[in-house]
Amino acid sequence: MVPLSRRELIVGGGGLLAVAAARRAGAQEPPAVPAEAPTLPAVLSTWSHGGPANEAAWAVLAAGGSALDAVEAGVRVSEADPKVRSVGYGGLPNEEGVVQLDACIMRGSDRNAGAVAGLERVKHPISVARRVMEKTRHLLLVGDGARRFAVAQGFPEEDLLTPESKATWEKWKAEQAAKSGGGAPGKEPPDAHDTIGMVAVDARGDVAAACTTSGLAWKLPGRVGDSPLVGHGLYADSRVGGAASTGVGEEVIRVCGSFVVVEEMRRGRTPQEACEEACRRILERTAGKPAGQVAFIALRKDGVTGAACLREGFVYHLRTAAGNPQRPGTVVRG
Ligand code: ASP
Repeated sequence: MVPLSRRELIVGGGGLLAVAAARRAGAQEPPAVPAEAPTLPAVLSTWSHGGPANEAAWAVLAAGGSALDAVEAGVRVSEADPKVRSVGYGGLPNEEGVVQLDACIMRGSDRNAGAVAGLERVKHPISVARRVMEKTRHLLLVGDGARRFAVAQGFPEEDLLTPESKATWEKWKAEQAAKSGGGAPGKEPPDAHDTIGMVAVDARGDVAAACTTSGLAWKLPGRVGDSPLVGHGLYADSRVGGAASTGVGEEVIRVCGSFVVVEEMRRGRTPQEACEEACRRILERTAGKPAGQVAFIALRKDGVTGAACLREGFVYHLRTAAGNPQRPGTVVRG
């Protein structure tokens, strides 16, 4: 390979790879240096509620804390916020009016993880997931077993259905009952699938990811989506970077979405190209007609990011020393 000049070496991860790719392709001139060089530490998360969650994660990272501690602290903000009706307390319930939560946390240094699915009555499933990783020889606990484990670990039990979410569910139930002969399924509320997925790289270069959700609104009791599944809702590998997804979990699971994103980055694709590839796999499988929105975010270990989605409307936040801007994901159309 053609040796790179010192100027090229100080460009930073994204620029460096782009320069190397251009050289391999025999380009005459190296591409322009990106305006914003990536910096570490960094934390990336889905949707607008990722903004305040990033701030909590950033407080950990800026104090020299680990990426693992940062992502747990970060997503707990969305879990506790009753206005975020797709995560934790105040999340929209299942078909029977019961809030069932899914979460997973993954440490990129050793690829260990912990997860819970269908967890009821515990506000912070991400912290229960971390205990599964740290206190058991298992990775994923579900349903009543997960709840009993959480209680044994000292997590309080509480009612997670807020009056607002209960009212939204009752309205949906009434609409369903009004349909004679079983019409089309009721319209989803606009915040039916806004899981928080978060990826962080700390000052030591370690990567971690977290994902926590109440899942699709009005889901069948016991339904589990992508969020608590390693390689689907999230993946972290400190040698490469991390990824997380949001949207219709069934579509993500069928293509091993977050694993695809990280593996594509490992193969040399940029985080943006890797997220677009995962979206394209869903579009290919569904002949361009996916069941709904899906989005991926990716953070490479050098701080370069990517985000792609199937439909307009997806936004994400990136927190670095330079700020916490909200950006739209790039829509992939096939
Ligand atoms: N991916 C989640 C699920 O399918 C939904 C979401 O993104 O809110 O459970």
